[in-house]
Amino acid sequence: MGVVKEQYNIIIVGGGIVGLTLALLLAQSDKRIALIEKRAKIESFNRAQYDVRVSAVTPASVKLFEQLSVWKDMVALRVSPFTHMHVWDGDGRGKIEFDAASAGVNQLGYIVENNVMLQALWQRVASTAQIEVLSDIELEYLERHENNPNIELHGGDRILTAPLVIGADGAQSWLRQAAHIAMTERDYQHHALVCTVKTEKAHDKTARQRFMTEGPLAFLPLDAAHYSSIVWSSAPTHIDALMQLSDEGFALALTDAFQSQLGAVIEVGPRARFPLIMRHAQHYVQAGLALVGDAAHTVHPLAGQGLNLGLADAALLAELVLEEYAHKNEYVKYSTLRRYERARKTENATMLAAMDGFKHLFGNDIPVIKWLRHRGLNLTDRSSFIKSLILQKAMGV
Ligand SMILES: Cc1cc2nc3c(=O)[nH]c(=O)nc-3n(C[C@H](O)[C@H](O)[C@H](O)COP(=O)(O)OP(=O)(O)OC[C@H]3O[C@@H](n4cnc5c(N)ncnc54)[C@H](O)[C@@H]3O)c2cc1C
Repeated sequence: MGVVKEQYNIIIVGGGIVGLTLALLLAQSDKRIALIEKRAKIESFNRAQYDVRVSAVTPASVKLFEQLSVWKDMVALRVSPFTHMHVWDGDGRGKIEFDAASAGVNQLGYIVENNVMLQALWQRVASTAQIEVLSDIELEYLERHENNPNIELHGGDRILTAPLVIGADGAQSWLRQAAHIAMTERDYQHHALVCTVKTEKAHDKTARQRFMTEGPLAFLPLDAAHYSSIVWSSAPTHIDALMQLSDEGFALALTDAFQSQLGAVIEVGPRARFPLIMRHAQHYVQAGLALVGDAAHTVHPLAGQGLNLGLADAALLAELVLEEYAHKNEYVKYSTLRRYERARKTENATMLAAMDGFKHLFGNDIPVIKWLRHRGLNLTDRSSFIKSLILQKAMGV
């Protein structure tokens, strides 16, 4: 059998939350879009059980989902608004608190299970005629031809070709590697342990995080008043030990590390772990090619920003590409892709640097740094101006 060549206007590699959102945004044009996702089956939402993977979703990301009319579908499945944030230093001498009312908003953000977002987005993609989902192709290599704006993606006996190819294929991005885009990479020397827990006291829609020298521990409030999703980042050997504890032992360790802020942890679900690595692609674009989301950058989850940054990439890239199509340009100019790169790379680099700063500031036991940290947190807590600046950034405003 001969090779089959399939022509599209846009190919998106990767149907995670960022790739799906981008596909739906671009489907606002009349272009033919191929969405390649290697997982044949996507985990679907199960009301009886919380997904162990959740994300703090900013109001800016919610706005994007609203624009695509998928937010109401996510709300119908399950989302958990939070109205307060409490952050404190290891020994409790430095703290900072935020609340929605004083920021003049109804909530600071939402905790949303990843499978809620995936299910709502997949459903919408399935009913969008211009998007063709391909899950039966294993990509092997990328090829360009002189004087031809199309990029070819080869897999088995198929060639998919388009003048715009976008990598939304996560941290290990195949497209990034196939296009030989180099990465800046640094191990945070932290792994993150995630788990759903039940606590003695209600969380009062408050997201809480304690910064310890070994790493931060966050309790993110779920829709039921006594349930939270926790993210505990620490040295890999410490996470090894926590993973090996019995449920009872782990519940005790959590209660203790969280200083019983929500009383005792009385129930723990299955635990999962993720190595944390800072990655930043040295280029986000080439002629006819762009990277978005984790394919372009990964960041420490301590401020819950990774997905939100990826969604902001998707929003800007789609806006610029749709502008080109509105001007009847069939091919997205390299200069347009560069505009996307300049804007998003700067923004993402700032967030990556801030997360590095936080990790070092809080991971330090030197007395003078500890003193500065306590003072800094408490002074910031008393300054409504600085607090509102921090909040605006955290909310993606
Ligand atoms: C512990 C932890 C907590 C986090 N908490 C938050 C938070 O609170 N808020 C937040 O904003 N972010 C958070 N993040 C970050 C967030 O999870 C990621 O940034 C986000 O999920 C990335 O989405 P993505 O769509 O870019 O990539 P992915 O979710 O990795 O999706 C990539 C998709 O591409 C597919 N794929 C890969 N290779 C190929 C290929 N060759 N062919 C076809 N398909 C392919 C994969 O199957 C996958 O479906 C957290 C991360 C961790 C580890």
